[in-house]
Amino acid sequence: TLLAVERTTRILVVEDEAPIREGLESLFGTQGMEALGAPDGERALELLGAGGFDLVVLDLMLPRVPGLEVLRRMRGRGDPTPVLVLTARGAEDDVVAGLEAGADDYVTKPFGVRELVARVRGLLRRPSRAGAEDAQAPRRLVLGDVTLDLDALEVRWAGGTLRLTSREGDLLSFLTARAHRAVTREELLVEVWGYRDGSIRTRTVDVHVQQLRAKLRGVPGGEEWIGTVRGRGYRFEGELA
Ligand code: CA
Repeated sequence: TLLAVERTTRILVVEDEAPIREGLESLFGTQGMEALGAPDGERALELLGAGGFDLVVLDLMLPRVPGLEVLRRMRGRGDPTPVLVLTARGAEDDVVAGLEAGADDYVTKPFGVRELVARVRGLLRRPSRAGAEDAQAPRRLVLGDVTLDLDALEVRWAGGTLRLTSREGDLLSFLTARAHRAVTREELLVEVWGYRDGSIRTRTVDVHVQQLRAKLRGVPGGEEWIGTVRGRGYRFEGELA
């Protein structure tokens, strides 16, 4: 007899507000997942150190060790576990800082349960690496004097090096594989973020693109790389060698 052994999805919920934390734990429970709660950043880091999580839901406003610091330390030690950050309404700076520190997506409080579950399922699906069809695509691209190394998540040129987050790497991988063609926000949500339903209402794509553009301004010619296609989405406009 063949036994299909399927490991239960494990989610770490880092949130100091007990009603939200416990609500999320039971919500994930009803979705057939196993959720563990951490009430502060220190406990979160302990649990993360032991490993074995498929996703982290991370509130940014936390006692002891703040959420951003938890995220930076995770990424600093090479932990690639997808992270969905929870931010307060109106805290745009938190969103930008979270994405810069390596978060994969964010949800603004108060959030709807269905939306949160859809986001979590999307991030767990992780077709990322910008989709199977791109598996053979060159991961090291040359634009003039600049090398875009998507494996190392670096942009390198004579004057410096820019580090990319893994999500920024996925985004650039998807866009460069379709250079000079318009790509819609919906395609990006489905293909890069893994959201099956591209109609999910989120500004994640736009916020990530804005953030990436701001970083690329420091790269020679980099400010030209990602163009906006009005009413449609984005297009990679750099000249690939
Ligand atoms: Ca909090």
